[in-house]
Amino acid sequence: MSSVEAPTTVESFRTEIRSWLRANLAGEFAALRGRGGPGREHEAFAERLAWERHMAAAGWTCVGWPVEYGGRGATLEQQVAFHEEYALADAPARVNHIGEQLLGPTLIAFGTDEQRARFLPEIAAVRELWCQGYSEPDAGSDLANVRTRAAFDEERGDWVVDGQKIWTSLAQDSQWCFVVARTEPGSVRHRGLSYLLVPLDQPGVDVRPITQLTGTSEFNEVFFDGARAPHVVGAPGDGWRVAMATLGFERGVSTLGQQVGFRRELETLMEVARRNGAADDPLIRDRLARAWIGLETIRCNALRMLEGVAAGAPGPEASIGKIYWATWHRELGELAMDVCGAGGMLAAGEPYDLDDWQRLFLFSRADTLYAGSNEIQRNIIAERVLGLPKEAKA
Ligand SMILES: Cc1cc2nc3c(=O)[nH]c(=O)nc-3n(C[C@H](O)[C@H](O)[C@H](O)COP(=O)(O)OP(=O)(O)OC[C@H]3O[C@@H](n4cnc5c(N)ncnc54)[C@H](O)[C@@H]3O)c2cc1C
Repeated sequence: MSSVEAPTTVESFRTEIRSWLRANLAGEFAALRGRGGPGREHEAFAERLAWERHMAAAGWTCVGWPVEYGGRGATLEQQVAFHEEYALADAPARVNHIGEQLLGPTLIAFGTDEQRARFLPEIAAVRELWCQGYSEPDAGSDLANVRTRAAFDEERGDWVVDGQKIWTSLAQDSQWCFVVARTEPGSVRHRGLSYLLVPLDQPGVDVRPITQLTGTSEFNEVFFDGARAPHVVGAPGDGWRVAMATLGFERGVSTLGQQVGFRRELETLMEVARRNGAADDPLIRDRLARAWIGLETIRCNALRMLEGVAAGAPGPEASIGKIYWATWHRELGELAMDVCGAGGMLAAGEPYDLDDWQRLFLFSRADTLYAGSNEIQRNIIAERVLGLPKEAKA
């Protein structure tokens, strides 16, 4: 239980986090400004972990969780203010966002009292890091095709897991993984799946980092060979519902603060274009203006989504928002390369010593894939909003 009082107004909350960040992103933590994030998850990991624990000690993790679970009970507007101020301060990318923003809310909604008591304090204090075990070699967009299976061991009272996950971000640094596995033999598609919590530090788990072309490893293959899972979230066989709720959290509030980062990227790019003369090119000017308009559209949609979240669930606005921001960001990466010109194609050193614009260009390609690709979001909109016939599945 936290002793932190729920704040009263958005502005006082904003002022509070702003002054706390100003006072605390100093001394040993000052060098962490701007560190981490896509393409840089390996940067200063231990120091960013220490920073996040420092935030936890002051009650600045999990601000949107209810007070009884260790949060601040912040309203949606206050959460947005928190993420905006965090980005404005150029504070380092969070190392525990999967636990805080995906698993935590899922446990609050679907977990047992025992599970909440066991896991939420560890997430809030940043003592245990989590990763997301959904995708498999043949189950990415088509998540219902998962082959990882698990059987309940009556004697020991836990689950025995066998199979493989892939693209598991941060598994190499995590202690736990939430895993979607088939627990009813012979079941098909989204029936008969369960949402299991698997500790990674055990003999039946092998985490193998995937080395990217850049030489860094941000995600992993995770192999389960008789691994033990002591917890199932929700009823056994009802894992699809729980897994979809987690995805809703992933596409929802947690993405709202990123717009501050986007705005800063766009403003810096406009500055580069002014300096290097690219802004004199009418086509570049046109694209910069479109980018600015696009960002306003993203903001308006985000505000609409907030209303949906306040009413209970993000709904299809989350899919619209995901398509918009992911496509916008990918196009900003392309625009950045054109603003930089031919010189932008040269790496500073061997083999992939990337500058910020090159990193933006390369890593924003992933935005339209993870958390549901653009095509999958369009399918959701087609089926759930437009009422078009459901896609045929094999
Ligand atoms: C940076 C990054 C981090 C990730 N982190 C994680 C993680 O932590 N945990 C995790 O479980 N997964 C993670 N993923 C995996 C991610 O969820 C999958 O990449 C995504 O779901 C797509 O699956 P896939 O890669 O198997 O591609 P596929 O599903 O094979 O899709 C390939 C292409 O076909 C299109 N396509 C597929 N099905 C349809 C359809 N029905 N209609 C129209 N088009 C379709 C897709 O849009 C895509 O363009 C991560 C991915 C990235 C890029």
